[in-house]
Formats: sequence, structure tokens, C-alpha cells
Amino acid sequence: MSKQAVIPVTDPGAQLAALRLEIDEAIGRVLSSGYYILGPEVEAFEREFAEYIGTTHAVGVANGTDALALGLRALGIGHGDEVITVSHTAVATVAAIEQAGATPVLVDVEPGFLTLDPYLLEEVMSEKTRAVVPVHLYGQAADLSKILSFCHRHHLALIEDVSQAHGATWDGVKLGSIGHIGVFSCYPTKNLGALGDAGIVVTNDSATADRLRRLRQYGWKERNMSLEPGANSRLDEVQAAILRLKLRFLDTGNASRRSIADHYTSALAETSVQTPITRSASTHVFYLYVVEDSDRDALSENLAQHGVGSAIHYPFAVHQQAAYSGRLRTSSSMTVTERAVQRIISLPMFPELNSEGVEKVLFTLKKYRQ
Ligand SMILES: *Cc1c(COP(=O)(O)O)cnc(C)c1O
Repeated sequence: MSKQAVIPVTDPGAQLAALRLEIDEAIGRVLSSGYYILGPEVEAFEREFAEYIGTTHAVGVANGTDALALGLRALGIGHGDEVITVSHTAVATVAAIEQAGATPVLVDVEPGFLTLDPYLLEEVMSEKTRAVVPVHLYGQAADLSKILSFCHRHHLALIEDVSQAHGATWDGVKLGSIGHIGVFSCYPTKNLGALGDAGIVVTNDSATADRLRRLRQYGWKERNMSLEPGANSRLDEVQAAILRLKLRFLDTGNASRRSIADHYTSALAETSVQTPITRSASTHVFYLYVVEDSDRDALSENLAQHGVGSAIHYPFAVHQQAAYSGRLRTSSSMTVTERAVQRIISLPMFPELNSEGVEKVLFTLKKYRQ
């Protein structure tokens, strides 16, 4: 058998290669500037990202986990407070809530969309509940209208975890601008990815933005004057300069992802795999293209044998992992989550995936699962 080129599930290196000269130029500009952390590139990126999302403020931090942890702290949420989120997410969402000192409470997801089931909020809410953190999973919004009205009714903060949906919208406005706070990871594989760690928080509230700026740097009100205990979660100039450049290509990248997804979805309609469903109120930016299959391990193995990469996001729900199992309160039923983690499989998805690659994925998959 001839050696097959492997099509990866994701490929941040492909975007780097396409923008290499401009990225080198941006890094060179920073090296010559004399500013390396929280300087003019960070300020410009914050301005440009806030404008892109449609909020009045954006605050750059070290990574997406810190973005959520500091976002909670900036709203005064911490020890003794409960924060409701999902178990079907990157473990970072739950880790961040505990990092802030608060207690995560996990609810099941909606079938199909696999995002927070708003009908379960009532069941798990307690006297201690302070916030709800929906995760806009795989590139698509959670049901924001139902979640938002629940939060309004019960005076809870709504913090959107937008780490998988940079640039996606709900009713025409960008995700991240709808809740009190929106938090983003810019981990290299994300739709807006740095070449290292980075994160950003957006809000329309000036006091919250000011507090975030303090919390990311030792609680400093001014240099060497801590107003409250803070963290070190600064964004560096090199990553900010790279992110400014990449932000210019985010919409084009998202459009490519959507067109690959459309192609996958129509071609897979005739197979037994279950393709992603999209909400009419939102745009899907396909951070991942996730299908469900009754024997996804065999499918994954078959794809691998033919040089097609795949991955499982996520093989275990958070409440099933050793660090959390038996320790966190959940909704009484977690069956949608527990069934999904056994059936999901992510197919190759990145803007630079060309039509030859897409055809190869489809050819391999359709031959195996007609
Ligand atoms: C990637 C991700 C994070 C965490 O981001 P880091 O930058 O790795 O800390 C948080 N939430 C979700 C949903 C993510 O996908």
C-alpha cells in the first residue's frame, strides 16, 4: 500500500504559512519597539477586537481559562457562589469557575445542538447561584434568548464562553456582546488563534473593564499599588501583534469553514452519520465539524487507515473525569451529554483545507458508511 498523506483535523500551521511574511514583519516590529507586554499592540488589539465584536471594551489576558476566571472575579463572583455551566465542554470552562473560587454546577445539553439546555436551569438553581456560563460549542450559539430571559428573571450574570465561536452571531449581533461579559480563548487552533497562549474578555461595562485591567496585573490600580489581590495574566505584545493581523482574516476564514461544512453536510446526507444541525437565529462558524455515529471508534480507525485524521471533542464529559467525578452537582439527568460523548467524532476542519482534501474525507467516509 502506498504511503498516504494525512489530512489533519486542524492545521494552524497552514494559516501561519499563508501569512508568514506579514507575521514575521509584525514580530519584527514588536522586537524593535521596546515594548513586550501590555504595550501599544495590546491596546490596539483590544480596540480593534472590541470594535469587531461590537462592545465598548476588550481586555487582553494570558489565555481563555483566565479570561473566564477573571471575568467572574470582575463581577464579584467567587467563594460561596455557584455558577451554572455544561459538562460537555473543554474542561477549561469548569476549571476557570473553580479558579475564581466559585462552585460549578453542571447541566445537560440539548440533543442535536449539544449546548446548554435552558429548561434545566430552573432545576439546579439555588440561593447561591450567581451566574450562567453557556458555551457556544463547536462554533454555534447556545440558546441565548431562553438563557438570557432566565438570567434576567433571576438577576443572574450571563457570561458567554465564546472560545469556539469567534465571529459567530445571534440575531445579527456578535456572540460575546450579548451577556454581561464574553470570554474568548485565542489558543492556536481556535478560529482566531495566536501562536502561543492568549485570551480576551469583552464587556460594555466600564467599571467591569477597569476591574479586569486591575485583576490581570496584581490588582494594580497604578504601578506598584494593588487595590485588591490580583493575578498575573497579561497578554504579550508579540501575540497581540499576531492577533491584530489574524483578526483581518477571521471573517474570510469563517466563510471558508462554513463552505467546507456545507459541502460535508450535503454530501453526508445520504450516509448513516448524523451531521450537525444549525440554529436559524445564529451563524455557525464551525470551529469543529462534529458528526455523530453509532460506532465512531471503528469509523475513526477506518479514516486513519486511509490518511484522514479525526478527533473526539470530548471523549469524557467533565463530570466523568477523575478531577471532578462525584464532586460536582449536576442536573438529575445527564443522558444527552453521556450519550453524545460516546458518539461524536470531529472531521478535518480548517479554512485552508482545500477541495481535494474535502473530497478525500468524503470519499473515504462514504465508502465506509453509505
Ligand atoms: C479553548 C477553550 C477554553 C480555554 O482556553 P485556553 O486558552 O486553553 O485556556 C475555554 N473554553 C472553551 C469552550 C474552549 O474551547
